Amino acid sequence: MNIIFLGPPGAGKGTHAQRLMNELEIPQISTGDMLRQAIKAETPMGLSAKAYIEKGELVPDEVVIGIVKDRLQQDDCQRGYILDGFPRTVAQAEALSTFAKIDVALNLSLPDEMIIARLSGRRVCLKCGGTYHISALGGREDCQACGETLVQRKDDSPETIQNRLSVYAAQTAPLIDFYEKKGLLKTVECLGSVDENQEAVRKALNLK
Ligand code: ADP
Ligand code: ZN
Repeated sequence: MNIIFLGPPGAGKGTHAQRLMNELEIPQISTGDMLRQAIKAETPMGLSAKAYIEKGELVPDEVVIGIVKDRLQQDDCQRGYILDGFPRTVAQAEALSTFAKIDVALNLSLPDEMIIARLSGRRVCLKCGGTYHISALGGREDCQACGETLVQRKDDSPETIQNRLSVYAAQTAPLIDFYEKKGLLKTVECLGSVDENQEAVRKALNLK
């Protein structure tokens, strides 16, 4: 199954995509994680993407389209994949449709107040992509999956969160219509606990 996770920053795309990856044994492809890894490794792509990410702007379409196109050609994607954070513009979605066959676009929906509370308390693992909320860490600072020290993303600061929400509304929200018109959209309201929301995601995908 080839799945897209849509939804505003902080809706839980990464969390639910990772859980589903473990269950379905198909890779989670997070353009945000790939870009952050490139920044950490100081590759040319990372260096060019850094300023956009830190301001909460989108990285140019041709950069992310190239990354995803390459990634989907790898062996582990042949049985299916979960796209987390891509596409984020109509141009990306149009490009994707030339090299991938999508089965479902899952729209995780959440009100702005909840988004802000989640993002401002978020800690991430730059090694394995794990995400946590400080309220669940009980003062611990290491990744429970791999032991790496967790960090706060620069773009999880209050001003940048606001900008990311505006960017989402202007550039990414139109994809809801885009996939609705193709008959591929399913919306999941993510107002519950992580486990409850995960159950709603599984239901939307008709998983037993
Ligand atoms: P979140 O969903 O929490 O905003 P991501 O990790 O998906 O976080 O993305 C972080 C940042 O990486 C985005 O704000 C943007 O700058 C960049 N980015 C990730 N995916 C894309 C994409 N498909 N197109 C353009 N920029 C992207
Ligand atoms: Zn980790």
